[in-house]
Amino acid sequence: MEAKSPPSDTITFLGTGGARIMVASQVLASGGLWLNLSGTEILLDPGPGCIVQSTKRKLRGYKLSAIILSHRHLDHSADVNIMVEAMTQGGFKKRGRLFAPADALESEPVIFSYLKDYLDGIEVLQEGKSYSVGNISFTTPIRHIHPVETYGMVFKTAGHTFSYITDTRYFDGLCHSYGGELLIINVVFIEPLPIDHLSMPDAKHIIMALKPKVAIITHFSMQTWQAKPWEIAERLSQESGVRVIAARDGMKFELSQLDDG
Ligand SMILES: [Zn+2]
Repeated sequence: MEAKSPPSDTITFLGTGGARIMVASQVLASGGLWLNLSGTEILLDPGPGCIVQSTKRKLRGYKLSAIILSHRHLDHSADVNIMVEAMTQGGFKKRGRLFAPADALESEPVIFSYLKDYLDGIEVLQEGKSYSVGNISFTTPIRHIHPVETYGMVFKTAGHTFSYITDTRYFDGLCHSYGGELLIINVVFIEPLPIDHLSMPDAKHIIMALKPKVAIITHFSMQTWQAKPWEIAERLSQESGVRVIAARDGMKFELSQLDDG
């Protein structure tokens, strides 16, 4: 079978930890996702340790075209300043774009003002809008229910469409806003808690509604990690009929896997 996309279409998980206790412990890393889509490199949610995790894996900040923040929480944005420096070669090369919700940029910006001039531009994420980075486009279909302004994304490359459901409380809109062959979903908890995060039953419901070819669960709390996410993923696969993978720190997912069968 002919592959639809070049082998460079990859998503590298620079961390799979989420929520405060896990992130403070670094039992699981928290560096975000590094996308390489048809040669366009995009960094998503650079949490604490992104600079360490990315350089360790020989991912080069100066090759990035954009950094996207789904929201301002520390586990998604802590390394944004150093990653802007890396993307712009210490500010010596004006380049790259930063995308973030307004509340990450306005009254208490997550980015230092002196770094803003290093960038080619800053774009504000809003509900229902489309954006482009090189040959890649993405949309932010719906505002999430989370203590700060938060958006997930649907990415389109030449050969693939995939979605990223970042932090949120469950609501029905999630089940009709995120299409594509691949769904990456931040599932912090095993069972529902009165906190604005998804749990495994929520994830199962969403996966069964959206029916991607593959779903990847990530952003695990300490309790979820201790419950062995790969075993949870196996059960979710059996119950949903969708191939569910538990992300691992450093895992590189090739989008060409979506072309089989
Ligand atoms: Zn959050």
